[in-house]
Amino acid sequence: MNIAVLIKQVPRTDKIKIDKEKGTLIRKGVESILNPYCEYALEAAVAIKKQIKNTKITVITMGPPSAKAVIRRAVALGADEGVILSDKAFAGSDCRATAYALSCGIKKACGTPDIILCGRQAIDGDTAQVPGETAQMLGIPMIPYITEIVSISERSLTVKSEFDNKELTLSADFPLILTVRKGSNNRRMPSLSDAIRAFSYEPEIMSAQEAGCDPEKLGLSGSPTRVVKIVPVAAKGNCRFFNSSDCAEGLAEIKKMIEKNKE
Ligand code: FAD
Repeated sequence: MNIAVLIKQVPRTDKIKIDKEKGTLIRKGVESILNPYCEYALEAAVAIKKQIKNTKITVITMGPPSAKAVIRRAVALGADEGVILSDKAFAGSDCRATAYALSCGIKKACGTPDIILCGRQAIDGDTAQVPGETAQMLGIPMIPYITEIVSISERSLTVKSEFDNKELTLSADFPLILTVRKGSNNRRMPSLSDAIRAFSYEPEIMSAQEAGCDPEKLGLSGSPTRVVKIVPVAAKGNCRFFNSSDCAEGLAEIKKMIEKNKE
């Protein structure tokens, strides 16, 4: 089986700050990591590989050459090969242009994979749009937000998918894109020997031309959306503590406060 996993290098969003004057993110000095949801996607691929013989996992990322670090982590965790789509022509790409570049890179690196696994969202961009747009560009179906692969054969699978607080059991034939959410499996540390082996792994660096991209569909010219400004959202809620040891008394206080707020 031929599996592609789309992985994204992201800054640690718990460390990132916003330049309030300029309305931009201050990324300088912030550690980059493999997007946690992409790790769940990779773990799902590794689990399939354990079940289906002759499975090959190719991880693909679009990013700067420094994205080598996340490819190496993926290789340490069980990927067979890694490709970085890296080119100035990709700079300024919004979700649609990113999905276009990825769809070209997937075709070039893997042909038509049976399954393409993605994280449910990236923790920095957070749009969750790239997988759906990639599916549309490749003309294949997508099942989002999967929590479990119930069963799998060489031609099809059945998964549990959870969204809007509903759990669905869905089956589909390959080729297919899946997005994976937290809870589908556990993230783990690679073994020391796998980490050492992956440390010297050199991924393929693929340019826009090598991927067969139309330059007009990349970067700013291929991006119908613009980020005008980033604004930090101020918390509006108030926190009040009720220092009552008597539960009934505490509840009466809370009730009184709610009634007062209604006025
Ligand atoms: P999501 O859609 O939330 O990601 C879901 C999943 O898709 C991921 O878990 C992963 O599996 C896959 N995926 C997403 N991105 C990648 C990737 N790059 N490689 C491999 N797999 C991936 N970014 C810049 O660096 N420079 C810019 O100039 C720039 N301009 C932008 C302008 C606009 C208007 C917008 C909307 C975004 C811009 N971005 C820019 C951000 C860039 O478009 C997003 O990082 C990218 O589209 C991914 O979107 P996301 O982070 O919301 O991913």
